[in-house]
Amino acid sequence: MTIEQATQPINIWQVAQRQFDHAAELLHLDPGMRLVLREPQREFKVHFPVKMDDGSVRVFTGYRVHHNIVRGPAKGGLRYHQDVNLDEVKALAMWMTWKCAVVGIPFGGGKGGVAVDPKQLSKRELEGLTRRFTTELGVLIGPERDIPAPDVNTNAQVMAWIMDTYSMHAGHTVPGVVTGKPVSLGGSEGRAEATARGAVYCIESAAAHLGMTIAGSRVVVQGFGNAGATSAVLLAELGARIVAVSDSSGGISNPRGLDVKAVQTWKSEHGTVQGFPGAVDVANVDLLELDCDILVPAALENQITAGNASRIKARLIAEAANGPTTPDADDILAARGIFLIPDILCNAGGVTVSYFEWVQDLNRDHWTESVVNAKLREIMDRSFGEVLAMAKRETCDMRTAAYLLAVDRVASATALRGLYP
Ligand code: NAD
Repeated sequence: MTIEQATQPINIWQVAQRQFDHAAELLHLDPGMRLVLREPQREFKVHFPVKMDDGSVRVFTGYRVHHNIVRGPAKGGLRYHQDVNLDEVKALAMWMTWKCAVVGIPFGGGKGGVAVDPKQLSKRELEGLTRRFTTELGVLIGPERDIPAPDVNTNAQVMAWIMDTYSMHAGHTVPGVVTGKPVSLGGSEGRAEATARGAVYCIESAAAHLGMTIAGSRVVVQGFGNAGATSAVLLAELGARIVAVSDSSGGISNPRGLDVKAVQTWKSEHGTVQGFPGAVDVANVDLLELDCDILVPAALENQITAGNASRIKARLIAEAANGPTTPDADDILAARGIFLIPDILCNAGGVTVSYFEWVQDLNRDHWTESVVNAKLREIMDRSFGEVLAMAKRETCDMRTAAYLLAVDRVASATALRGLYP
């Protein structure tokens, strides 16, 4: 029985381990090495109190996981979402290890989050939660140890609070403890757009490989936040027609194309993309199956499954989100000849520009946006080329190819360092 035939919801930690096992098998990885890389090095769980605006106290649960720190300090986002749990954070941390290795930046994999619906909190409560969680994370984080970044429902403001709290405890300003900060506090130019920009660079490379043109292509984007909305804007700038987008409340579609910037304004005024004038509302489940050329999942995990993969119409799928496609769905998509750019390559632009931000912070330097984007382009183009070359050489899909590259790099680094003591 596969994971998806089970009656329980799909567990993404099992998905992450299954993806790793597949690569380990193909690489004939040493059994001891498999055991080491299959589990996270550290799992941290904390229950912490926050004083609410009405004077009551609530206790929240937060997590931080270091999957592997052999190639450098732990790196990975912090997520605020009601469904955050240890298995999710473990999977996301493992994916960060492979992602940093695919693009060749000197970080290990980490991830964290708090089980909270931040939309239910006031700004002051959110700040209180962030500052107390940062204090609890003080045993783990630091510019040489573990550098958090934004993820679902966290942003530059949250990163500024983390940097300030850590700096208050240190007694001096430590900009390198987080990335994705506001530019005025040591953030990098281009970081806010980097995840989407990296994904679009990959889409350009994939389109060239497939003989597709982006101008005139019909695009569907699931998730209209940092990764999704910016991908839609950048693809529209290249002449693509954005025919549908969605957020957690639902989606909208217009086969003639949506004015993406106007949708962004509508969402900031109404809190949802739904109801946008001139578009029809679509349910999130139907959105993925709409007629289009390029599908960009940019929301959460387990969206393309064995249940809907056979009805996906896109020719190219670009995983701006982490873990949107399950292994059974991968098999179905590959058999149907759909070209998929896997998350650990496709959304690596975010961590790549986070790396640039960290380097700038450590050197008290500031690069222009054109320098940042040019360096990002170089890394994304090179990484896409390496993964595609591996896929051709091994006659495998792009996810398997990315894993073969990444797991081999992490395993080689681990072997070189040796087993302590
Ligand atoms: P975000 O909070 O900015 O946006 C998330 C968006 O997804 C929101 O519009 C939300 O309404 C929508 N959404 C939530 N549940 C949904 C559902 N069931 N159906 C449709 N839409 C839904 O978060 P983000 O930073 O854009 O992250 C999105 C994905 O990209 C996540 O998988 C994240 O791990 C990944 N990612 C983000 C970054 C980054 O730099 N922010 C980097 C790499 C990967």
